[in-house]
Amino acid sequence: MPFDQHYDLAIVGGGLAGSALAIAMARGGSNVLLIERDAEYRDRVRGEWLAPWGVTDVRKLDLLDVFEAAGAHILPAIAGRAGRPLHEETPEGDLARTFFHPAVQQALIEAAEAAGATVARPARVREVTPASDGANPSLRFDHDGDSHEVTASLIVGADGRTSLVRTALDHEPVEHRSERMLTGVRLAGVEGDPEMGYLIVSPEPGGLTALFPQGDGHARVYLFTHEADASAYRGDEGLKHFIDGIVEIGLPAEVVANATAAGPLAAFSASDSWIPHPHGNGLVLIGDAAGMSDPTWGMGMALLFRDARVLSEALRATDDWPAALDQYTTERAQYFEAVLTAEDWLSELLLAPGDEARQRARHAQHLWGTDPPRAIDLPGLGPDNDLSGEARVRFFGEDVPIEA
Ligand SMILES: Cc1cc2nc3c(=O)[nH]c(=O)nc-3n(C[C@H](O)[C@H](O)[C@H](O)COP(=O)(O)OP(=O)(O)OC[C@H]3O[C@@H](n4cnc5c(N)ncnc54)[C@H](O)[C@@H]3O)c2cc1C
Repeated sequence: MPFDQHYDLAIVGGGLAGSALAIAMARGGSNVLLIERDAEYRDRVRGEWLAPWGVTDVRKLDLLDVFEAAGAHILPAIAGRAGRPLHEETPEGDLARTFFHPAVQQALIEAAEAAGATVARPARVREVTPASDGANPSLRFDHDGDSHEVTASLIVGADGRTSLVRTALDHEPVEHRSERMLTGVRLAGVEGDPEMGYLIVSPEPGGLTALFPQGDGHARVYLFTHEADASAYRGDEGLKHFIDGIVEIGLPAEVVANATAAGPLAAFSASDSWIPHPHGNGLVLIGDAAGMSDPTWGMGMALLFRDARVLSEALRATDDWPAALDQYTTERAQYFEAVLTAEDWLSELLLAPGDEARQRARHAQHLWGTDPPRAIDLPGLGPDNDLSGEARVRFFGEDVPIEA
């Protein structure tokens, strides 16, 4: 396959972030090269619940029909321990979507090609060289047994949590280490209302379970535990231990009574890590390559679609790409930090260990019941929640004495 010597944009990684950006930029007339390592996408236990505020960005990127064609399912409600459905939507009426991650990855990379991007796949980027002395940045990749070198006006790192472009950018990440661990699997044969998922916080410290139906008897299910041992979740015994764990936290046993694994069971740390200034020398990062937020709260995909929208809109609005990159960096810092702050409040209140923490959580949740604006709406409002000092006091109920 012949490649040009120079592209407006060379994007490393054809996951959701890279393909969404490739589509938006190719539709705007840019000459885009999208390089993806894997010949086939497989289940790597990634996000399959897209928060309503992320659906708004998908809609603004004009990609909802691609999701629909890939089998995305609308999930209007989530229930807690009491099993009461809580309707989740954005102020504009967007509802959450669930889907099989590899199916949407495939649909988006095909849409990128249809929009006019050149797709190299399977192709592995081996080396990224930042711009220097007025020369464009460049990269070298293997494809079909040959090694190719191309330059680009901008190289985008959409290559996920172990990003090569991030290494080339050489900016120190900030990390918040968490002791919590999450384990996840896709299940088949799940029963119950396909229009309602679950998010149940354990009465024991640190635990939480989430189940997101996909509309066809499949569901993505997670178990979050405090200081857990990953080796306990391996093999058939591991799956049994997992199912016992989610039911013990409070998921109705009948929902998973006949469920079987439809993919791998894998465990991850619940840490955050991000690059505060994700661009420089002709390189820019988006999606997990730019920053990962604690997967407990399921905001990673909403963030990456916001990245693709904000960056593509900034680049398409001007020929002054350095200014557009500054604008993206400023906006990204704001929405990423806001999401992290909201997640920290939720984790601090609902997942902290100890009797005192539990009493504080009960107190705050009781106040949210009588005065709902005290709570934050992470699924519906994402980074647009009020996260001021005053809002924090009201969220934790610190303005009302705890009854003995
Ligand atoms: C357990 C878990 C649960 C989660 N749950 C949720 C959830 O419910 N909701 C939610 O919104 N988010 C969730 N997330 C986060 C979400 O899955 C990620 O934010 C999202 O998948 C990141 O997409 P990406 O495109 O940035 O990166 P990736 O999906 O990692 O894509 C990167 C792509 O780059 C390619 N690549 C890498 N290196 C190279 C190279 N050198 N050359 C060529 N190609 C390369 C890879 O093959 C890959 O296709 C979860 C994450 C985890 C770990």
